[in-house]
Amino acid sequence: MTRTFPGRVDVAVVGSGPCGAAVTRTLGERAPHLTVAVFEAGPQLTPTPGQHIKTIRDPTERAEAQRRSQGTGPAPDGRSARPGTYLLPDGYRTPGEDGLPAAAMSRNVGGMGAHWTGACPRPGESERIDFLPGLDALLDEAERLLNVRHDAFDDAPFTSVVRERLAVAFDSGRGTDRTVRAMPLAVRREPDGRVVWSGADVVFGEATLAGPRVSLYADAHVRRVRMESGRATGITVRDLVHGGEHEVAARAVVVAADALRTPQLLWASGLRPPALGRHLNDQHQVMHAARLRDVTGPDTVAGGASSGVNWVPYTDAEPFHGQVMQLDASPVPLADGDVPVPGSIVGLGWFCAKDVRAEDRVTFDHTRTDADGMPAPRIHYTLTDKDRTSLEAAHKAIRRAVEALGDPLDPEPITLPPGSSLHYQGTVRMGESDDGTSVCDPDGQVWGTGGVYVAGNGVIPTATACNPTLTSVALAVGAARHIAATLD
Ligand code: FAD
Repeated sequence: MTRTFPGRVDVAVVGSGPCGAAVTRTLGERAPHLTVAVFEAGPQLTPTPGQHIKTIRDPTERAEAQRRSQGTGPAPDGRSARPGTYLLPDGYRTPGEDGLPAAAMSRNVGGMGAHWTGACPRPGESERIDFLPGLDALLDEAERLLNVRHDAFDDAPFTSVVRERLAVAFDSGRGTDRTVRAMPLAVRREPDGRVVWSGADVVFGEATLAGPRVSLYADAHVRRVRMESGRATGITVRDLVHGGEHEVAARAVVVAADALRTPQLLWASGLRPPALGRHLNDQHQVMHAARLRDVTGPDTVAGGASSGVNWVPYTDAEPFHGQVMQLDASPVPLADGDVPVPGSIVGLGWFCAKDVRAEDRVTFDHTRTDADGMPAPRIHYTLTDKDRTSLEAAHKAIRRAVEALGDPLDPEPITLPPGSSLHYQGTVRMGESDDGTSVCDPDGQVWGTGGVYVAGNGVIPTATACNPTLTSVALAVGAARHIAATLD
């Protein structure tokens, strides 16, 4: 048995998460004459490629899909990862540093976008990329591709109560786009109330993969971007089902393989700009929980949403991003005889923007390889005094949020281990000029190359606290538009 890979395409896309899908969709719409092949190392989990695993209704089948996304499986030293993700088995901490012990990846068609929560806030104030004048138009397009809704769960019990109480505590002095509001979510509500989270399937769009010029290859691990005289000439891909390596010629290659494996593939291909892997930043995360005070239930609407999500946006004065999720409204007892009013239990996550430094980085060398035989990532990562001050301030802010809402469920907020946000940025960052502090230009093209592009959270150059996928999809759209305009 074997399968056929194309000998030649116009564009090879590495990785089928939301960013690889955004590149493919944009090329399909803007330059339908181009042939595009998407190569994904992981398996296809759902009948339509890239659906969110919550579309798998059977719990046993869903758990199996999550397991199949978990690459090399559980960490050898007992660290636990979120379902559908897996941790770096080693190299996640250099002695004497904080490291990223919770740094995780997914490996499946749809990438982490098959497992995500769908929060799609826009960056604000210094989170924004000031050298990209077209950023807002790209974010609009990213909202379209991800099917972002701003009022998806407005009928959830007590969600307006949560919003009003947070507004009293946080809105004073904020700009109009930074006040407390419903979290924009990549989700659709069916007429019967069913909730369908957007996965890469939604970003690809039905027409894209059905078209004759676009193909997707699962279980296909890209080993190299092939180069000649500084120009991309294609990729080398290993067929993980039947074995064997194949060369696919391409005029442009887009690497959208996440913030750790994109620099890995570039490094393995001999593409090593000085900033490659540097400026690695995670959003340090503080969690707390509250029970709403003075609410009596039920506040449900028949067929309505069970769980609202609200947003306390980042500001430079309060450099945190607050994600406030009412837990499932079903009345689950907390303790004997204590059955909370549906919608009254609220989980809060506060994300901090990192003090971005070139020395926080992922490196590769010739001495260690990972389970794929690729250069193994080694993390160098330290929280600075500024980061510790910002974490303390985030503790205070999340306590203030809990006080505004009701009573804390635990005495103190907790700080999660570095890497827990699953939002790693900076490793292939975009820059305005080729001054050694960035990896790609404002179109996502790697400096000094022709036809090698990068996409994903690693491209984001600013210190953001908000969930990054909307922004990285926007930047991926920009890259695809550039390819469409450049390849005739
Ligand atoms: P990914 O989705 O990570 O996809 C990269 C793909 O590349 C993977 O499938 C991988 O297998 C493939 N790949 C890697 N190397 C190779 C190779 N050499 N050859 C072929 N394929 C390769 N973000 C938000 O903004 N909001 C949220 O609410 C949110 N919630 C989340 C909740 C969870 C539980 C998880 C797991 C993630 C969440 N995220 C959230 C993060 C979000 O899912 C990611 O930001 C997003 O998926 C990144 O998209 P991507 O396409 O850049 O990369």
